[in-house]
Amino acid sequence: MMFQETQRFREFAAPPAFVLDGSTEADVAKALIESKQQTEPFYIFDMDEAYRHIQRFKQSIPRAQVFFAMKANHSEMMLKLAIAMGVGFDCASPGEINKILNFGVDPTSIIYAVPNKTPEQMIYARISGVKHTTFNTACELYKIKQYWPDAKLLIRIKVESESVYKLGEKFGCLFETEAVGLLETAAGLGLTVIGVAFHVGSGCSSIESYAVGIRHARALFDHEAKAGRHMKILDIGGGFYREESNKFDQVSKLITDTLAQLFPDPSVQVIAEPGRYLCEAAFSLYCSINKVQTVMRNNKPLNKVYMNDGHNGTFRYLETWQSVYKFNDTRRSKEDLEDTILYGPSPDSKDYLEVKLPRCTDQDWLVFDMQGSYTLVFSGRFAGYEIPLIRPIISKKIWAQIKDRAIFSASDFIVYPDLAEPLPSTLPPLPPYPGRSEYPHLVLAD
Ligand SMILES: *Cc1c(COP(=O)(O)O)cnc(C)c1O
Repeated sequence: MMFQETQRFREFAAPPAFVLDGSTEADVAKALIESKQQTEPFYIFDMDEAYRHIQRFKQSIPRAQVFFAMKANHSEMMLKLAIAMGVGFDCASPGEINKILNFGVDPTSIIYAVPNKTPEQMIYARISGVKHTTFNTACELYKIKQYWPDAKLLIRIKVESESVYKLGEKFGCLFETEAVGLLETAAGLGLTVIGVAFHVGSGCSSIESYAVGIRHARALFDHEAKAGRHMKILDIGGGFYREESNKFDQVSKLITDTLAQLFPDPSVQVIAEPGRYLCEAAFSLYCSINKVQTVMRNNKPLNKVYMNDGHNGTFRYLETWQSVYKFNDTRRSKEDLEDTILYGPSPDSKDYLEVKLPRCTDQDWLVFDMQGSYTLVFSGRFAGYEIPLIRPIISKKIWAQIKDRAIFSASDFIVYPDLAEPLPSTLPPLPPYPGRSEYPHLVLAD
């Protein structure tokens, strides 16, 4: 018998959401950790939090329709919640298009917002029924002419900004010197440019950037109108900080005012592509500690903490606004903080993060807040480590509002959950591996 193990690392079915009647995320985490049944790292996805952020976004910029940038977090319940709330999707690849269409989303609710696409990717999108995409060079226009001539195009312009992750070097044409020429090239090729798009960069703190983008878009709308071509969509992109930073209030007001002033015509469709804003605050990660070692560095104690997720797992970045603390540490005082290196499990010397924490033991768990965006999606399975599973939770109140939406089925929720129920193990199954002694083989001394 040939032993067949052709599958790649496993995909795990998304665990259902616990419907909570009065209990909180902290109660769920406590029950789970104190049961000692949950040993692997896990995420808790607070669906109420994502629900609230989606609502808040819609209310704060009522003129803009929401197209969730799913690259920020494409976990199943996050996508289902977004679908249930009637948002559209900003997809970055055929993989994302395929994933969201498999949920039954209509392809006309998708914008394929990445400007650089290969011919195969364009053909994939076109055959899938996606109609809208972006461009920012002439080279792309010639390819679009050949492979996706009926696409509805948005010209992506570059907007300078102060952002944690700037995108301007890679994407966007220059408004002053390139945009008009590109619009003329597109018209010459007989392509339809339906609008203007910009993205100020992720985690954008220069609020004025959005107004600059909208002003430049207005000028391009006017240029096209003069040439007898009419654009219909303004895409103000993503980049929104979560609302706790106060910046969101200022940004949404400025955008709303600028739109009222420059785009009073309600027949222009305004769309936004928030990613980080909708999901970041809704996910927390819980990691257990496996080993602790204290050494001296510069005459100060340095704690080396080995935990069960890390840089090569779901921690690509530790942002300044994210926090880490010891689970069940009610004091949370600043005084006993020590220099700490958090090592991930993998055998890679770069798999670490530097933080400040009180001294820990191998019985402790660590909690990382604000882990909902650009975490799970960046995660790798380097050296065979699996990605933590997610336990969604939802309050009875929000559940009652959304449970009957078509995207959900009863099995998505557990109404009277046992809070201590562990998530499934991600360890591989133990099949009967058939040794083949006729292979030339090495044997370790025993
Ligand atoms: C990544 C991306 C977004 C989302 O950005 P956030 O900073 O997460 O809001 C929106 N639009 C485009 C085109 C993107 O590439």
